[in-house]
Amino acid sequence: MATIYIVMGVSGVGKTTLGKAIAQKMNIPFYDADDFHPQANIDKMASGIPLQDEDRWPWLDRIVNQYDQWQTKGAVLACSALKESYRDRLKVDQLQVKTIYLSANFESIQQRLAARKNHFFNPDLLQSQFDTLEAPTSGIICDASLQKDRLLQYIMNTITAQNTSQLGLIGLGVMGKSLSRNFANNHISMSLFNRHVSGVEEDVAVNFVTSYPELTNSKGFDDIEAFVKSLSLPRKIFLMVNAGPAVDTVITSLEPYLSEGDIIMDGGNSHYVDTQRRVEVLKEKGIHFLGVGVSGGEEGALKGPSIMPGGTAEAYEHVGPFLEAIAARDAHGNACCAHVGSGGSGHFVKMIHNGIEYAEMQLIAEAYDILRNHCSLSLEQIAQTFDTWNEGAENSYLLEISAKIVRKTENGQPLIDVILDKAKQKGTGSWSTTAALQIGVPFDTIAQSVLARIISSEKAQRVKGQSLYAIDRAEIHELDIATIREAYQTARIINHAIGFETLRKASSEYEWDLHLSEIARIWTNGCIIRSTLMEQIISVLHGFDDNILFHESVIPEMTKGQAALKKVVQDSVGAGAAIPVFCASLSYFNAMIQGDSSANMIQAQRDFFGAHTYERKDKEGSFHTHWE
Ligand code: NDP
Repeated sequence: MATIYIVMGVSGVGKTTLGKAIAQKMNIPFYDADDFHPQANIDKMASGIPLQDEDRWPWLDRIVNQYDQWQTKGAVLACSALKESYRDRLKVDQLQVKTIYLSANFESIQQRLAARKNHFFNPDLLQSQFDTLEAPTSGIICDASLQKDRLLQYIMNTITAQNTSQLGLIGLGVMGKSLSRNFANNHISMSLFNRHVSGVEEDVAVNFVTSYPELTNSKGFDDIEAFVKSLSLPRKIFLMVNAGPAVDTVITSLEPYLSEGDIIMDGGNSHYVDTQRRVEVLKEKGIHFLGVGVSGGEEGALKGPSIMPGGTAEAYEHVGPFLEAIAARDAHGNACCAHVGSGGSGHFVKMIHNGIEYAEMQLIAEAYDILRNHCSLSLEQIAQTFDTWNEGAENSYLLEISAKIVRKTENGQPLIDVILDKAKQKGTGSWSTTAALQIGVPFDTIAQSVLARIISSEKAQRVKGQSLYAIDRAEIHELDIATIREAYQTARIINHAIGFETLRKASSEYEWDLHLSEIARIWTNGCIIRSTLMEQIISVLHGFDDNILFHESVIPEMTKGQAALKKVVQDSVGAGAAIPVFCASLSYFNAMIQGDSSANMIQAQRDFFGAHTYERKDKEGSFHTHWE
């Protein structure tokens, strides 16, 4: 829709000069409203007789009658339009009419008019104009005393900002839709794009913006060039497409239309190595690329996710306010979004978040298994047990939903009992296991939770195994629920310690300068692993650069909790339970508190069969022995 810009203010304020300059910049025609006065009005003004309202209506109507000719390109109109009612008269439905008000004080204008020659307006009428003026409160309001170039610059910047969107988003799938509604709800103007597949996916974004009232001011596009051109500079484009080749495809389609300094954010679950590559490639072209971890699922994306952006601090300066506006809030009301570090760190942090999540889920599943199959608790008793734990230090989002899951029925039957015991995975668990091994972090709990899902998928083999061995899972009479609860919490602490150790080592390996306490803080709300424990970890990691298990506040808890963990592992494994993450957490803990390990035997074996040499406790250097 074309726009008519009405540059208004009292006589002598500079409407004509500025109006012409604006029209020239925008390459649209300029008109002076005075040229449309009926002759009777011109005569009156020349004789110094003030115009009345009844003189102005025919004049304003003559201007509106010109709109038919102006509507293709739009126009700039210099017009006093001092009263609200005059400006209302200039508005029509089929065109946008925007006001640019040049505000000035009486004295400065009087001086200007007095200095003018050959102008038919009588400066004595100025006071009546100021008396008549009803200054607009909306539109572009600017100080006419500013130097002309600066005034023009200000007006042009404001017009550009009003015409362009602050943020672009590509990919209107589950997450993209929710995130764009969240941005719009936070008064961020959006341009939205979804790929066009002729006959299959057409006008997805255009239709989407008409579906929700909060998107009234958002623009939908089916054409990538028009989408990019609709964004204010530097362009900020959020990708919410499937991780993998789709991200590269979209980047390639954007590139011809981007300029230096523009910023692309990838909000999908991309692999951090891909993100590092994209950061480097786009850097060569002067484009910033941020890997932005987003957690919280569809609902979190709409109501407030936890956001983990990584990339240059310079790019974050531009996008941070937008991301922080839509993020969840922590207990102190601060955004659960912070610049986590450089390069691909945002996606690495999100990947480790998912790794911790895998093990948290598996620990609940294992506790559920022990309670149900070895302690003979009913589903309602298990739900009540989880509810009780949730009232204490064990509280977490995952435990809350697990209590609801075991209570859920379908046709009067527990739903959990008809859900197939095969767990799927999308890859972030195994990615994090591989990434941790590459930097030498024993990722026991997380790796075991990935392996547990893999074993779960071997349903047919498990059923066969059961028939071959026919071993019943035994009741554990001597295990009380309080011990299971303590073991569960102890294993969780170990799992979190392993997750944060991975981040600590990755930060040093890749020089990302991750702030672990801040990462714990942005994980306290809006994400799947939010919990009371995570809130405690914020202070544990504050100014502490070591394994969480070695923090003075954690040592007493672990000293006490390890006994419960040992008992649960011993009794449950003895009774036939498969509880790999409970076991892995205990093995990690046992290994991490042994000053002397059995690795001397490994060293000796390696030297024996492969002459790999070994180091000694009693002297420095590398040694080799002829073993036989
Ligand atoms: P969806 O499958 O719902 O949406 C994917 C979007 O990507 C669609 O708009 C799709 O367009 C678009 N797309 C796919 N391939 C291409 C391509 N080659 N070119 C252009 N556009 C393409 O996925 P989600 O919204 O669930 O997830 C998006 C990303 O967010 C993923 O990386 C996911 O792992 C991550 N994520 C998901 C979470 C969730 O809870 N769902 C949570 C956090 C992150 P079209 O409609 O035309 O197919």
